[in-house]
Amino acid sequence: MLSTTSFVPSLDFARKMDQVDPLGRFKDLFHFPKKNGKSVIYCCGNSLGLQPKSVQTYIQKALTDWATKGVDGHFEGENAWLYARKRSKPALANLVGALPTEVVAMNNLSTNLHLLLVSFYRPTKSKFKILTEAGAFPSDQYILESQARFHGLDPNSAIVEMHPRPNEHTLRTEDILEQISRNQDELALIMLPGIQYYTGQLFEMEAIAAAANRFGIPVGFDLAHAIGNVPMKLHDWHVDFATWCSYKYLNAGPGNVSGVFVHEKHAHADHLPRFAGWWGHDEEERFLMQKGFKPMPGADGWLLSNDNVLGLEALQASLDLFEEAGIMEIRKKSELMTGYLEFLINRINNKTHLVEIITPSDPAQRGCQLSLLIHKEGKRVFDSLYEAGVIADWRNPNVVRLAPVPLYNSFEDLYHFSRIFETSVQKFA
Ligand SMILES: *Cc1c(COP(=O)(O)O)cnc(C)c1O
Repeated sequence: MLSTTSFVPSLDFARKMDQVDPLGRFKDLFHFPKKNGKSVIYCCGNSLGLQPKSVQTYIQKALTDWATKGVDGHFEGENAWLYARKRSKPALANLVGALPTEVVAMNNLSTNLHLLLVSFYRPTKSKFKILTEAGAFPSDQYILESQARFHGLDPNSAIVEMHPRPNEHTLRTEDILEQISRNQDELALIMLPGIQYYTGQLFEMEAIAAAANRFGIPVGFDLAHAIGNVPMKLHDWHVDFATWCSYKYLNAGPGNVSGVFVHEKHAHADHLPRFAGWWGHDEEERFLMQKGFKPMPGADGWLLSNDNVLGLEALQASLDLFEEAGIMEIRKKSELMTGYLEFLINRINNKTHLVEIITPSDPAQRGCQLSLLIHKEGKRVFDSLYEAGVIADWRNPNVVRLAPVPLYNSFEDLYHFSRIFETSVQKFA
């Protein structure tokens, strides 16, 4: 493939990039929404990933099992529902850099974050603070606030929020590490996103986890915008826990099943407080229906309920595509595509000076998303993009988020986007 230094702003060049793209064939494996009879340019995988065409077949198979087997579907067939959760483990482990025993698909993201905090946020009188970012995704803010209150603490004193420096949009790793060091005696938890939802900043999870480990502070990441977007090594980085959702870059469908990572070092930590349910109980003894909770080792010990089989089928359809493509190959294309989009936007901006990309320009500090701050008439620009068949994402007061997704976006998409964008920006300038 070509390198970022040889980019050319032309349809011909974009098509050439697509021709040599080893992942190009995946685009046809997804359904695209249509507008005025034409497929849209879909740049919104950071909010809801597109549907793999194979999802129907996967779900239909489970529906047929249900129709033909009834309750026996729990025990019969290659995908016996009793063990449904196990199927997604290898692919999820590859995506986050974990052992299969360290991950499990379950519940939804916000629910899982609460369950994990029950175990990993254990404030004491002197060590009770949570280090996090200002401007986190609202659900994460509410979760931390309510966890602090649950422990009888005032969120205002328990939660330490980090802000970017004046006139900067993203946090510097050196400042995060400095905060960890400065607050080490009072911190009971470090909780950050893998990728920030608004700015698209990829946090240096390895360095943050290393600092947390040095001071013996539990560290967790919300990977809603990171999983399926960038490769990770949660096991090697000694991250304590993480959770994610599957409907953004994982393309598993609206509200579909989330997942958790719990590091192997906690695999047998039966003493950790947790909210238990029968599916987290030792599966050899589960149906003895006896008193006395005995957690399964690994992430499975945090399960509560039996599996959402239909949801897991949709997840699996998508995970099988990730396995086929490989997250390293996806990342390689992603860096090129996002680089090309940045190049095209910067060219437009050199003429208009109306747009500021607030996502870091260093590819190592971002995933595929670019967040554009539009200085004038941002909402009108966004609306006109929509009218022209571009699905992007608007965040008040003036940010457009664009996520070129390697599995289903092409360089040609980005070139067409840039032409539409240039027209929109010029119209309202
Ligand atoms: C998308 C997202 C959520 C959504 O939470 P759900 O429980 O899946 O509704 C939460 N946190 C972050 C950071 C997100 O990006």
